[in-house]
Amino acid sequence: MQEPRSFIHGLSSSDVSNYRALTAEYEKYCREQIAKHFMASKFNFKKCQCCGYCCMCYPCMPRPDEIPPVAKYLAISLKELIDRYMVADTADCQTFFLRWAKEGQEDITGARIPPRRTYDKGYCIFFDKEKKGCRIHPARPDEAKIIKCWDDRQSRDKKLWGMSAWTQDDIYRFLPDFSKEYFRNSGDTRI
Ligand code: SF4
Ligand code: SF4
Repeated sequence: MQEPRSFIHGLSSSDVSNYRALTAEYEKYCREQIAKHFMASKFNFKKCQCCGYCCMCYPCMPRPDEIPPVAKYLAISLKELIDRYMVADTADCQTFFLRWAKEGQEDITGARIPPRRTYDKGYCIFFDKEKKGCRIHPARPDEAKIIKCWDDRQSRDKKLWGMSAWTQDDIYRFLPDFSKEYFRNSGDTRI
């Protein structure tokens, strides 16, 4: 499984320790969720049981080229997809990428996620809890296909992560007005 992303810079030591506490709490939450999900790995199954654990704790992330096909699949515009279902996030404040929001994050979609909200709990906005499945399954990113809880050899390879495919300019292809102030060394350390 992938590690939670880190995305803070220029913070005071107390802010850093607050974020460490949030990270520890999130990791604890994910450990607790293992007991509540029918994960293939717990039963030595080699086939996904669609339990939703990874869609909760480690949602897949799309490459830039994987976003338009999802809009097409949902028969909505790219702007509508981003405004309703995506947030801009970063691992280093140098490159930003778009990822699926989580359930409950509908109030912050279409923009940079406030860093503290990256610790929000809940399933990916596209996970159907009743049917136990992905609402965009045919158009889901490759990262979703490589995540296998019973075999994490591929998912540990950062080259295969959707976020690794993003360059610094890509965010402007999707959010032309994205603020340059968000980038490292801009002087902005808002949290
Ligand atoms: S791959 Fe993910 S959704 Fe499938 S069984 Fe494992 S944890 Fe559950
Ligand atoms: S897009 Fe689908 S596969 Fe990916 S995290 Fe969301 S629900 Fe899971």
